[in-house]
Amino acid sequence: MFLNIVFHRIVNKHSDLRDTYELTTSQFVQTLSLVRRLSRQNVSPFTNYRLYFDDGDNSFLSIVLPLLKKRELKNVVLAITTDNVGQPGFLSYDDLSWVQEKGVVISSHSVSHPALAYYINGVAQESAIGAEYQTAPFGHTRRLTAQEILFQLKESKKTLQDNGFFTDEFVLPHGCYNDTVLRINKKNNLYDTISTCDEFIDSGTYLRPRVLTRHDVPLEYFERKITLLTPYTV
Ligand SMILES: [Zn+2]
Repeated sequence: MFLNIVFHRIVNKHSDLRDTYELTTSQFVQTLSLVRRLSRQNVSPFTNYRLYFDDGDNSFLSIVLPLLKKRELKNVVLAITTDNVGQPGFLSYDDLSWVQEKGVVISSHSVSHPALAYYINGVAQESAIGAEYQTAPFGHTRRLTAQEILFQLKESKKTLQDNGFFTDEFVLPHGCYNDTVLRINKKNNLYDTISTCDEFIDSGTYLRPRVLTRHDVPLEYFERKITLLTPYTV
């Protein structure tokens, strides 16, 4: 069973951190060593791991890639927001081709990174009514309509495909989803795997659990958390 860990931008020094979900290089190295070690131990609930890098930040090339082992690359997933590709600070399609050739997996992380489901007090709300097939703003800003959800799922897959990347995995922006999101995906036959930020061990389910890393969480706390995870069962 897999432990799926989510990273975002990795920075060289503490003063370069811009938000909670970024790590310094030394935090990244420590987290990676921990996961490598635990995956070899019988006491852990996982025997293998995937390393996710969400949003397509170019620190993956400049900082992360040299720290990874060749055999790990097939379990490295870049979750790509297609609007970001080639923008300053983000990977280009040429970069993506180059890392894909090395075995890295490219998956979709939407067109513009809106939360596909709107949460109030941690509860996913029903999606809104509306007929425009259009993009939506970045972030957790409002309830998307079914057509806007479809746009994010379908157009990101199509854009990746037009640039030579086939993917059957969608990584949910902000980890947010509701029944409508899952129904639209199934109905349109888009993705075999929907990756969440639900904290469980991955036993191969359609909804794939993943654990976020944050720079303000001490390594001991993170270790405790990942050794206590249980398998996901839906
Ligand atoms: Zn993201």
